[in-house]
Amino acid sequence: MTTIACPKCNAPVNGKAHNCPNCGTEIPRPRRSLFGRIWKWAFILFNVATAAVACYMAIDALSGSQSVIPNVAYGLLVAIWMTGAIILGALTLITPAVR
Ligand SMILES: [Zn+2]
Repeated sequence: MTTIACPKCNAPVNGKAHNCPNCGTEIPRPRRSLFGRIWKWAFILFNVATAAVACYMAIDALSGSQSVIPNVAYGLLVAIWMTGAIILGALTLITPAVR
């Protein structure tokens, strides 16, 4: 639990409170910066898109029919996924929500 100072009266306020218990001033919600939001959504969309490709490749591999996907693509997918997740995850972590 974090305690912050009320922007109006400087009274200590619980970090999760919506209003100051002393003066009733509305406490601003923590927000990510523009880049923080871009990285967060890039991270989410990247993982969803890569998971979709992985599903497509898994279905293709399990279908038993003549596969059009070369074996090297599976290793490449894992490499791209890990690299992208680490980079975008790190960028998301270093741009947390702030008041
Ligand atoms: Zn206050």
